Amino acid sequence: MKIIKLPSTKQFVTLLFFTFGTLAFGQQAIHQVSLEHLKNHLKILSSDAMAGRATGTPGIEKAAKYLESAFQRMGLKPSRQGYKMPDNSGKACNILAQIEGKSMPSEFVVVSAHYDHLGIVNGEIYNGADDDGSGTAALLAMAETLMELKKQGRGPDRTVVFIAFSGEEKGLWGSDYFSEHPTIDLTKVSCDVNIDMIGRIDPERTTADTNHYVCVVGQRHISSELKLALRALNENTQNLILDGKFDEQSDPNRIFYRSDHYNFAKKGVPAVFFYDGMLGGDYHEPTDDFEKIDWDVYQKRCNFILDFVVSVANRADLLKRDLTE
Ligand SMILES: [Zn+2]
Repeated sequence: MKIIKLPSTKQFVTLLFFTFGTLAFGQQAIHQVSLEHLKNHLKILSSDAMAGRATGTPGIEKAAKYLESAFQRMGLKPSRQGYKMPDNSGKACNILAQIEGKSMPSEFVVVSAHYDHLGIVNGEIYNGADDDGSGTAALLAMAETLMELKKQGRGPDRTVVFIAFSGEEKGLWGSDYFSEHPTIDLTKVSCDVNIDMIGRIDPERTTADTNHYVCVVGQRHISSELKLALRALNENTQNLILDGKFDEQSDPNRIFYRSDHYNFAKKGVPAVFFYDGMLGGDYHEPTDDFEKIDWDVYQKRCNFILDFVVSVANRADLLKRDLTE
């Protein structure tokens, strides 16, 4: 016979906390991105071996090969979209991979992140762990989770297209090229979900929510359903602080125009941009390193973004395009 050990008072209090804690705040993410996968991908992408991944250099080519082999290991068939660099200094490429939708395969959700960064400047390597190693690693880890679900017959209803863009730091080159030469019908893209810098807590943030927020940009534009969909999902899952400060018309930083989602928005595609809000500190400094990543909040954000991708992929209709801005 087994001995049944009664919980000690301390354990009992812990048990109570978890029981009621869960009822009070603790809604969980529906999908989980593996922390181990995030760490493994980001460690490699932000290593000195990739030499800061500047567009047009051997360092970013290493990153491109890494992305391709990671997608292949998951059972996906990545492809390259090559383009001539607008400054005529050579060629660059975007890396694409897609998971075919179960019931609406010719409608799409795009998940995007840029895999380039600033390279080597004055002899210093700019590893870009947060910018945008964090988005690129998130993209790979999400694809991995979705492929596992697909193998269990629980894949997305619409096709999910993963795009790692190059040339972002040079001026959104890769996404501009894609938007002018799309490989899919942009009128059938429900939403571009762009991820650029989600791995840190903004050191300049003074509110008490530092471990539980993400900045969400783009909710004022193109689709009134975007904000509603984000809010409804969040209420039923992690209850993160979805900070819309960069969507305020008064915000001087013009964040909406500063990452790859803008090239989708420009073509009338609803687009949302997830971001940790960092504008100072290690942003665009050689100190944007792997060791600075805040894994807990990074993983929370990844889980939320993946939940959002799946919810948009599976909802009855495409997000409607009813706003003029
Ligand atoms: Zn970036």
